[in-house]
Amino acid sequence: MRTSLILFAAIALFVAGCTTTGQIPPQDPLVSGYEPRNIMLSEMASELGWTYETGPGAYDYTLLSPQGDQLIFRIGTDYLNINGARWQQERDAVEKRGNDLMLPESTFNYVCKHFGRHDLVRTPLRESKIEYKLEPIGKTEAPKPSVENKATSTVLKGLTICIDAGHGGSDPGGIGNGVSEKQVVLPVALMLRDLCESASAKVIMTRTTDVYPDLDDRCDIANGGKCDLFMSIHANIAPNDDGVTGFEVFYNKNSVPGGEFAKALAVAMDKATTSPNRGAKKDPRGLRVLEKTKMTATLVELGFLSNAGEAKTLTQKDYQEKMAAALFEGVVNFWTKGNASVSK
Ligand SMILES: [Zn+2]
Repeated sequence: MRTSLILFAAIALFVAGCTTTGQIPPQDPLVSGYEPRNIMLSEMASELGWTYETGPGAYDYTLLSPQGDQLIFRIGTDYLNINGARWQQERDAVEKRGNDLMLPESTFNYVCKHFGRHDLVRTPLRESKIEYKLEPIGKTEAPKPSVENKATSTVLKGLTICIDAGHGGSDPGGIGNGVSEKQVVLPVALMLRDLCESASAKVIMTRTTDVYPDLDDRCDIANGGKCDLFMSIHANIAPNDDGVTGFEVFYNKNSVPGGEFAKALAVAMDKATTSPNRGAKKDPRGLRVLEKTKMTATLVELGFLSNAGEAKTLTQKDYQEKMAAALFEGVVNFWTKGNASVSK
């Protein structure tokens, strides 16, 4: 569980900023039923006569040709990097198996063609009828080490964070399109907990199951735990407009660090999702958990359950993992930017 979370932490960060991309053609489905075809990185290396090694990042594997070509695969992402340019693989199948990676066979085929090794290309059972235009993203640029390398680290050592999954138990929170707030915020909160703990933070949860601590209980838990940061996780409802989508982060209007923390979270979420960024906002309602907590506090609204598409997305595990990874990145970015002794 924790491993997969860390992998997903990598996803959101690695795809950050990518809007368009070259695409590697999908593997043709088998005649009866779609059975994705895979190849292990070690096998790919030996067929090409290349070598592979771990790094440069904690979640990267590098394939090196004798001529100095460099391919970097990042676990848990559907991107690969060829000599500094990013390409999108057919699907997100870069999966760790021991000290090896499993990749879509179409990636292998593409790499063979890219480097003129047409003799190695594996023939699918059916020819693809779709023509794909293969273009790298943007200009050549070495991949930068990013915060995902900090998912298993001590980057949050010294931080005590209270994570509050909104609502719960008898209080479902907002309900839209058959999806309740309590049902989507808890998994995100638990994933975020795991990521923060992996990065050596002390995490205090207000709830880890489907129960309802009241708002004062939640504040007491955070205050009693002498937490440095407090994050309450919620989802939105727009009662009169089911077209509204997007995430937003509220903070206490009197808290300067609260505003900075909210901004860091919104920036990270913006990179992780195409859902509209409604921004970091001063809380206009005097939300109890932002008023009564004594530390830097934010309240995150992940998206709108009143919108059918967003409601569905918010129930999906991969999206929840993306959101958790983004929130984790926001925490790391805020905490490591000289905020180690913030107060309210
Ligand atoms: Zn709520």
